[in-house]
Amino acid sequence: MQKMTRIDLITELKSAKSVGITGHIRPDGDCVGSTMALYLYIKKNLPEIDTHIYLEKPPAIYDCIKDIDRVEDASLCDREFDVFIVADVTVTGDRTGEAGKLIDKSKKVINIDHHITNKDGSGDVNYVIPEASSACELVYDCFEEELIDVEIAKALYIGVIHDTGVLQYSNVSKKTLELAGKLITYGFDFSKLIDETFYQKTFLQTKLLGKVLSECVLFLDGRVSAGHLTFEDMQANHATSEDMDGIVNQLRFVKGADVAVFMYGISEGTYKASLRSSTDDVDVSKVCALFGGGGHKRAAGVTIDGTFEEIMTKLVNEIEKQYA
Ligand code: AMP
Ligand code: MN
Ligand code: MN
Repeated sequence: MQKMTRIDLITELKSAKSVGITGHIRPDGDCVGSTMALYLYIKKNLPEIDTHIYLEKPPAIYDCIKDIDRVEDASLCDREFDVFIVADVTVTGDRTGEAGKLIDKSKKVINIDHHITNKDGSGDVNYVIPEASSACELVYDCFEEELIDVEIAKALYIGVIHDTGVLQYSNVSKKTLELAGKLITYGFDFSKLIDETFYQKTFLQTKLLGKVLSECVLFLDGRVSAGHLTFEDMQANHATSEDMDGIVNQLRFVKGADVAVFMYGISEGTYKASLRSSTDDVDVSKVCALFGGGGHKRAAGVTIDGTFEEIMTKLVNEIEKQYA
């Protein structure tokens, strides 16, 4: 991959009259944080631009972000933007959901992403650094420090916290920690923010986590831990993708397991699987890419057809090949 230098956002948007912003379907903390930070930054510093943000409805935990109620549904919009900014996802493919058609129509696309499966960046202007902890870390690079305010800092901090498991995962660098340090100086209640967006679970989430853990199974002599909820489980509990947040993380804590897999039924015969690796031996982005998904070496996802057992047979087979 070519060495990418930061985008100067203010310069890139100089002659733009309209800007659209989006991230990926089933938005997570980094997706919501990075796109909302972009929205707030442009609104504050370039108020003459007609700026819109399109995402699937963000989980309620992100209601603490300023102007989150300005998020629009792309399926209700049909217009041409001068610039479209796509963060935390590859531009091409179906992960941008309904916003895809707006991106296709726009005059210029800026892609800010950190997924290793987003090969060379997929916009007209790209800032794609797989080593970055989060899209938020890269969005911060594109901002002028003196033009950031407490609300923008808070949105960025949420993304950094969520994609690093509260600054724990191996994607954390000195730069990530320095950024977290800078962001908390803006003066929001970071401790409460971590509790309320990362650790707290609803009663339903707690019960579903318990069900997955109590039925969890092991593969490859305990090197892979796996759990699932069927589509019927999801329907019976009125559960949504929002309720699945963090479950795969708990499966990582099984002693001896290098790889954790969690999947939930999104329709009859189709699962959304999340994979996490705790070892350099297994690159889960490669495993997921084989089935049309992607992500990072240590955290990746894929949508895949079959029963839990059938899908696990396929995934475990590919995971096993990666152990030298
Ligand atoms: P998840 O397991 O959904 O939390 O995703 C883990 C990481 O992989 C996140 O950075 C996602 O954005 C990414 N990811 C998940 N599903 C896909 C997919 N189908 N294609 C590409 N990247 C994905
Ligand atoms: Mn994401
Ligand atoms: Mn991310």
